[in-house]
Amino acid sequence: MSVTAETRPLDLLADFPAIPEGWAYLDTAATAQKPRPVIDAIHRGYAETYATVHRGVYQRSADMTYAFEAARERVARFIGGKSEEIVFVRGATEGINLVAQCWAGTHLKAGDRILLSTLEHHSNIVPWQMVAERVGAQIDVVPLTADHRIDLHAMEVMLTDRHKLVALAHVSNVLGSTLDARRAAELAHAVGAKLLLDGCQAVPRMAVDVAALGCDFYVFSGHKLYGPTGIGVLWGRYDLLDAMPPYQGGGSMIDRVTFARTTYAPPPGRFEAGTPHIVGVLGLHAAVDYVDGISLDRIHAHEAALVREARTALAAINSVRLFGPDDSAGIVSFAVEGVHPHDVATILDEGQVAIRAGHHCAQPLMDHLGVPATARASFAVYNGLRDIEALVQGVERVTRIFG
Ligand code: PMP
Repeated sequence: MSVTAETRPLDLLADFPAIPEGWAYLDTAATAQKPRPVIDAIHRGYAETYATVHRGVYQRSADMTYAFEAARERVARFIGGKSEEIVFVRGATEGINLVAQCWAGTHLKAGDRILLSTLEHHSNIVPWQMVAERVGAQIDVVPLTADHRIDLHAMEVMLTDRHKLVALAHVSNVLGSTLDARRAAELAHAVGAKLLLDGCQAVPRMAVDVAALGCDFYVFSGHKLYGPTGIGVLWGRYDLLDAMPPYQGGGSMIDRVTFARTTYAPPPGRFEAGTPHIVGVLGLHAAVDYVDGISLDRIHAHEAALVREARTALAAINSVRLFGPDDSAGIVSFAVEGVHPHDVATILDEGQVAIRAGHHCAQPLMDHLGVPATARASFAVYNGLRDIEALVQGVERVTRIFG
């Protein structure tokens, strides 16, 4: 295998204390390992600067509120939005549920339609099914192209003025296929529909600018971006957020409460009831600084090079079937003929290679591919060619064992 100029400079393993020498962690699409700056920010948040936000008048709380809101501004700058458009949620799942309940739940009526695609994660399917059932809307599903991308030509044909919302993965968590999001936004807007992008797998892998993409809502999870679990982001166009009722009631989200009537705070506070995940937000800020410090363009090139190496080497093994397009973003799904993906993952684990095996919360996609599950290797800034070599050796061992 050749060491390319793109892969060599991004060997940042030393930043990740939880990855021991010799362990190939290839499950970043599930969750990313944490770099020291994120761990340090979380430690500092609890060990040095901890206090509540938005309430206390004492200095420590004012300082924490300042840090919390600075993180919101940082996230906004990171994805090209405005600070007041950033809603902190538990993760992408909560962000999608919020839009489903607060936007779709109030804007859709019986006979309206929602457009999803075959490759969506369950968290970009089930919330829409729940709201569709409640309001009497229908769900349509855009098929995939032969090389496993969302088929935008088919989408153009399918869209009607009954479609009020299109919700698509920016990058597939199984196939790594990247959506032409700008084109998807044009098509959705041409019929008056809104576009929500599930950016869980995109934000850690490519520079994202929501204004340039032209979408209406964008969600992602902190823990896949090298940040903590329990914190994620919903970005929404301010006019849309401002016209949405709150998701949950409680402290912090109000303007004035009386038993006769309650008025709500403007966005984003309206959608952040209760004491937030304060230190999680600080950790997310550190994660954004970390990836921006490296540059998303470099990360993207690095992962693309690893994908190329992995796909070329795996394709050379006769019994391996590869899924997804060749230019997949940091994620390679595959199957070994005659071997269940769980057995593949177990044997790889014996050789210190951690991959994911299963349906990846995308059962409709598994049905489309005609498999119960796939084996999936996904890459990050801490991976290098040594990890691809370990993966390929492990898969060769699988084929020897199952002969
Ligand atoms: N969408 C995609 C594409 C994902 O990969 C994931 C996580 N596997 C989710 C949504 C859900 O993210 P979370 O569980 O962090 O809310």
